[in-house]
Amino acid sequence: MERIKCLIIGSGPAGYTAAIYASRADMKPVMYTGMQAGGQLTTTTEVDNFPGYPDGTDGTALMADLKKQAERFGTEVRFGMVTKVDFSDKVGGIHKVTIDDSTEIEAETVIVSTGASAKYLGLESEQRLIGGGVSACATCDGFFYKGQDVIVVGAGDTAAEEATYLANICNKVTMLVRKDFMKASKAMQHRVNKTKNIEVMYNTEIDEVLGDNVVTGVRAINNQTKETTNIDVTGVFIAIGHKPNTDIFKGILDMDETGYLITQGKGAKTNVPGVFAAGDVQDNHYRQAITAAGSGCMAALDAERYLGALE
Ligand code: FAD
Repeated sequence: MERIKCLIIGSGPAGYTAAIYASRADMKPVMYTGMQAGGQLTTTTEVDNFPGYPDGTDGTALMADLKKQAERFGTEVRFGMVTKVDFSDKVGGIHKVTIDDSTEIEAETVIVSTGASAKYLGLESEQRLIGGGVSACATCDGFFYKGQDVIVVGAGDTAAEEATYLANICNKVTMLVRKDFMKASKAMQHRVNKTKNIEVMYNTEIDEVLGDNVVTGVRAINNQTKETTNIDVTGVFIAIGHKPNTDIFKGILDMDETGYLITQGKGAKTNVPGVFAAGDVQDNHYRQAITAAGSGCMAALDAERYLGALE
């Protein structure tokens, strides 16, 4: 069976940054990309907030640059899904990982950077207009809607945070809340309610996102009266939560009630010796490419120090 020093699961900014550091530390990392090679950023065109790109860049181009940089130092990038893990609970133990239900690999350290996927409503019009005005990240895309009218869909803390963030940039924010109350904390609701340019519409859902290539509005429906209203907006922010990609680690790695991996202290260690977590998979708060990259660096340094301490 193949045995490697460092296995990196996932090829987003966290995985590639871990790969750059691990390969420069001579850990000869092997990365499995998963189904979405390059991660979430490959689904967006404009990335304006990643340091080092003064004119902004394209998400796919940014990920291609990171791949090139990781490969320059010897990272081996392979296409494949990790479908099963069997982690040793001993310090210095060898971890077994199955790729695509067929190949087994042994690894001295594992860096989990499998990310999290935004939840969407599932409407055909919404899916078609992702990148054309439909977004799941106000911090990432809000700036492009400066001075414009936008919708936020959701009722929890994230939706409330996104709405107040957007209210600082946009002309008007309309929050669509499916029930007749918000799930957000009282403090967040208070912030929403006292922000003059946020309007909350309760019992209201999106029936259709309007527009051919770019968003021109939404048709909203009151789920009590069935009355529909067209609202003119250029941006639709879906804030109904994220799902961390952690199903294969259930019962093995410590996670919170929503499935995010729990890391110890300020570092990237999980509850299993030699297994580290980086990026959105362990961060339900910031969810940015640069924070994912930063924690990928931390995971590689922690893995290197773990191996160093064993020698
Ligand atoms: P991800 O990028 O989510 O990558 C996860 C990786 O894990 C993928 O390669 C996937 O294939 C792999 N994987 C999953 N399961 C397995 C498995 N079982 N086996 C092997 N591999 C697996 N952030 C910004 O900072 N600026 C922006 O402008 C910006 N714009 C965005 C626009 C959109 C549309 C979206 C969706 C997100 C945007 N973000 C932006 C957020 C940013 O993309 C994420 O914070 C970042 O990509 C997280 O990086 P990550 O490495 O943790 O995980």
